[in-house]
Amino acid sequence: MRSTRHTKLAIIGAGSVGSSLAYAALIRQSAREVVLYDRNVAKVRAEVLDLAHGTLFTASSTVSGGADLDAVADADVVVITAGARQEPGESRLELAARNVEILSSLMPELVARCPDAVFILVTNPCDVLTVVAQRASGLPAGRVFASGTVLDTSRLRWLLADRLDVARSSVHALIVGEHGDSEFPLWSTATIGPVPLRDWVAPDGTRLGHDDLIALAREVAGAAYEIIAGKGATNYAIGLAGARIVEAVLADENAVLPVSSVLSGYHGIDGVALSVPSIVGAGGVERVLDVDFDADEERLLQSSASVLKESLAKLGY
Ligand code: NAD
Repeated sequence: MRSTRHTKLAIIGAGSVGSSLAYAALIRQSAREVVLYDRNVAKVRAEVLDLAHGTLFTASSTVSGGADLDAVADADVVVITAGARQEPGESRLELAARNVEILSSLMPELVARCPDAVFILVTNPCDVLTVVAQRASGLPAGRVFASGTVLDTSRLRWLLADRLDVARSSVHALIVGEHGDSEFPLWSTATIGPVPLRDWVAPDGTRLGHDDLIALAREVAGAAYEIIAGKGATNYAIGLAGARIVEAVLADENAVLPVSSVLSGYHGIDGVALSVPSIVGAGGVERVLDVDFDADEERLLQSSASVLKESLAKLGY
């Protein structure tokens, strides 16, 4: 995407995810100015230098930043990737509690410096942290949302495209719910071009059966585990997914993306953030789309909401 007006993207956290997002944003020209912030002075300086040394080959976008939060002032979009690392023996819940603390103190500082920005959470557990960040910011629900299942949806579309030998752009299928174990695909509305996925017949006459669909859903939900086992973190695909969401905001695209914002009265769900198809434009989540889920999908949506509600309660929310 090529942006013509001066647009500023601030990335909080210059770890694997934050620096990959900056790299993707520079190459895609998602914003004219990319600023990285991290409390680790040497790390953020090194990432900024390494990225800047490549900008001869990335057209007009610039990159800067450091360990001074004032560098992010007046950003149009702030993406939060800063987070604590899991310590040996530490549970997921204990890690979440540390990230809740980080977010609760960061958000007011960020809002003070970027009062008009749209805030995008990537740090995990991103759905839970969206509720925390939205409350700590005092901003409307649409202005603080998580990348949610945009990444998981990209994984699903890649898998389906590969399996059915069609272009990824011709696969229309979404993962919704928690960005995590309780996420699920909306098979009832999935299509290949205009053909419902369940009616798709391969050249050899075969169709995707119930067991195939279950296996695909499992593969998507478990994808991060395999990558983390092999290389310690996932970074490239989330970097690209994050850049894509940033572009939807900066270009006021009103693109339909499965992002996670705090819901009120969505299929009876209140005060929980999870991913559902949403219109993303200059104001962030402009609208959450009401979707007809089939009975199975409705059950999975409610159970994903319960999982998240329980996590929030355990963290005192
Ligand atoms: P990382 O450890 O490489 O980087 C985290 C960075 O945050 C570090 O550089 C650290 O110094 C910084 N940091 C920590 N506390 C800070 C604070 N208070 N202020 C400023 N900076 C601070 O981790 P990573 O691999 O880049 O992952 C970052 C987060 O992204 C994790 O929570 C991870 O689970 C999450 N993630 C989310 C998705 C998604 O789809 N939502 C995908 C991949 C990773």
